[in-house]
Amino acid sequence: MKNVYILGECMVELSRTGDGLLKQSYAGDVYNTAVYLKRAFDDFNVNFFTAVGEDSLSDDMVAAFETEGVNTEMVQRSKDKAPGLYMISVDEQGERSFSYWRSDSAARQIMQFVSAENVGYLCMGDLFFFSGISLAVIAPNERDIFWQLLRKLKDSGVRIAFDPNYRARMWSDKTEAKIQFERAFRLSDVVLPGIDDLSQLYGFTEFNKIQDFCSAFGIEELVVKNGPDSVCCIRNGEFNEVAIKPVQQVVDTTSAGDSFNGVYLGARMSGVEVVEAVNLAAAAAGEVIQHPGAIAPKDAFEQAIRPLVDQSVAVAS
Ligand code: ADP
Repeated sequence: MKNVYILGECMVELSRTGDGLLKQSYAGDVYNTAVYLKRAFDDFNVNFFTAVGEDSLSDDMVAAFETEGVNTEMVQRSKDKAPGLYMISVDEQGERSFSYWRSDSAARQIMQFVSAENVGYLCMGDLFFFSGISLAVIAPNERDIFWQLLRKLKDSGVRIAFDPNYRARMWSDKTEAKIQFERAFRLSDVVLPGIDDLSQLYGFTEFNKIQDFCSAFGIEELVVKNGPDSVCCIRNGEFNEVAIKPVQQVVDTTSAGDSFNGVYLGARMSGVEVVEAVNLAAAAAGEVIQHPGAIAPKDAFEQAIRPLVDQSVAVAS
């Protein structure tokens, strides 16, 4: 059984319903990735390494992880903190905006739980996945613990995957983000940026520029997502541009990149070739964006994606 560890934060999500009420759910970039990876590859052990509180909302959140089949053995409990929260507002033009209450969340303390025992578990993983948001959430004075951990995982032979997922408001300035991201690039085997991440941070708008820049970091597999346009990948010098079939009825693009990441990584770990893995990941993201919110209904997602995954995995093995 493949063993995946995913580091980051899940938040309580509040969205308004038409009748003036609030709907509560749970989401966060790497958590979304964990959910879609598990839904598409049921035989994987997908572990979420995060911290929540000891309050009842945290209990409900952990119960939601379990409902999704995400392994909660690495979910840590902070004694004095609670989960972060965000609220989605939609204006009259249908534009979404987000308000966050996450600056003092339990997940910020996650590095305090990097014990010898937990490092031992993480070192047994086949893959460790984190994002630029996971990095931004770690308290700055505890970042060294993270980099030592990542180096240890790498030295233990764990495959490392990273999505920069740049969010300007989570960093004091671009330089701070760049320093952290470039450390991540250097230690990662697989990097999955959205083109927007790299254009905002470095001004790159073309794959060639991104490729040149990334070549200095020794990344084995670079997969650059560009919305409905295409996905460009380079693995060990072999370049592929994969066209995306645009979805006609886009309802909500939240979590497009996250679901793409989960299914791409699962497919690659199952022996599926890069281009086919992109096709599966794009099918998953294409399904997710036809539903509101970060987490699409389980049945609809599984019915659309599982048969495709099963077929590709059967061909690959
Ligand atoms: P991110 O969410 O990280 O910014 P993108 O916007 O590039 O990433 O979207 C991730 C993936 O979602 C794309 O690679 C593509 O497969 C899929 N996707 C996004 N928008 C569309 C769309 N309008 N039609 C079909 N697929 C889409």
